[in-house]
Amino acid sequence: MRTADAVVVGGGTVGAWCAYFLRQAGLARVVLIEKGQLGQGASSRAAGVVRMQGGTPEAVKLGQWSRQFYLRQRDEIGTDSGFTEQGYLIPCFTGADVAAARERMAMQTGLGVPVRWLEPAEVDQVNPTLAPGRTLGGTFCAQDGYIRPPRNVAAYTVALLRSGVEVLEGVAFRGLIPGGADTGEGRIDAGLVVLTGGPKLAEVGRLAGLRIPAGGVRHQVAVTERHPDLDPGRVPMVFDLAAGLYWRPEEGGLLFGMSNPDEPPGENREVDEAYLTRMRARLADLVPVTAALGLRRIWAATIDYTPDHLPIIGRAPGLDHVTVASAGGAGMMWGPGVARAAADVALTGKTDVLDVAPLGLDRFDEAGHSRLATDPIALPFPERISES
Ligand SMILES: Cc1cc2nc3c(=O)[nH]c(=O)nc-3n(C[C@H](O)[C@H](O)[C@H](O)COP(=O)(O)OP(=O)(O)OC[C@H]3O[C@@H](n4cnc5c(N)ncnc54)[C@H](O)[C@@H]3O)c2cc1C
Repeated sequence: MRTADAVVVGGGTVGAWCAYFLRQAGLARVVLIEKGQLGQGASSRAAGVVRMQGGTPEAVKLGQWSRQFYLRQRDEIGTDSGFTEQGYLIPCFTGADVAAARERMAMQTGLGVPVRWLEPAEVDQVNPTLAPGRTLGGTFCAQDGYIRPPRNVAAYTVALLRSGVEVLEGVAFRGLIPGGADTGEGRIDAGLVVLTGGPKLAEVGRLAGLRIPAGGVRHQVAVTERHPDLDPGRVPMVFDLAAGLYWRPEEGGLLFGMSNPDEPPGENREVDEAYLTRMRARLADLVPVTAALGLRRIWAATIDYTPDHLPIIGRAPGLDHVTVASAGGAGMMWGPGVARAAADVALTGKTDVLDVAPLGLDRFDEAGHSRLATDPIALPFPERISES
């Protein structure tokens, strides 16, 4: 039987940063258990987009907190997740898009996000790779950017080891026991348990006897060949909201990611060529230079989501020593904020990262429906959870 102050399940960005924050908060013995290797879930396969231009106040606050954390990492831990301030444009193509964007912008500005409205000509000026004259304007935040997901895994590995978190790879969580957690390598006696798991969080929850409405669904990313027009100085990140398509510069080409709104929930890492072809056509329509470019890399991975596409942060109902954390498919953008809030909630029941009262498991009914409105600018994830 090992003894710890806290056990954190899952070595992705949420669990790892949470374990680090628990240690920073003064817990002497924090154990992180990961059934495989650190980063082997969604966290190493992400596109890395980090935006403060959130669709809800919670999303904005988590984006702001996480971006600040990425900026101070080098001073705090001696390395960083590679945050690059690239600027993020969310273009509008219809009158309804414009109305929604202006409403969002008012909320974001009220929370201190330096987002501004660009008229159509300014959109073309800020992004000379975009086919001109296509938009009705858009919102732009110069401080949004991206991290490099594999570098984030390296950064949290360094942080865990340097801060003295005990990392147990190849050790699976099997369930809760009175006063701790059961694992594939025996019991760990611990006063606090934090459950994460990304796309596998529902399974982790089942092992703990909890119903957690969290799912996984296929998400694809590809990187084009290089082209001089795609120099990072000319390409802000762009989110084509209606299509669920986003892109950013990557090694002289474009990295683009896509979520198929009709994708059935469930794990899937096979590339969907037909959907990729559709998204390539949409990208070529908006960024004509990409039409003639080959692809250097393509991957498909299972992304986590929640029914309302918002994070889960809260203590398990009736189990004050167990805290549940999910970034709801936005773990690059919100992960450190979710992790810090989860660490605070585990320790004290509250946090100053954001008001977590609405974000607990108690917002879901028996069928997994949330009483919160769905994040209006999340990727087009499913709103139901796979039974598998
Ligand atoms: C292709 C793709 C692109 C993405 N792009 C972006 C993006 O641009 N911006 C953004 O914000 N987000 C993005 N995401 C989402 C982001 O990657 C996730 O939200 C984030 O990585 C989730 O982190 P996590 O720690 O919760 O989960 P994970 O990284 O999946 O980690 C969970 C860990 O738990 C472990 N585990 C599971 N079960 C057990 C068990 N029983 N015992 C012990 N360990 C267990 C797993 O092995 C895994 O390592 C993307 C995701 C994908 C797949």
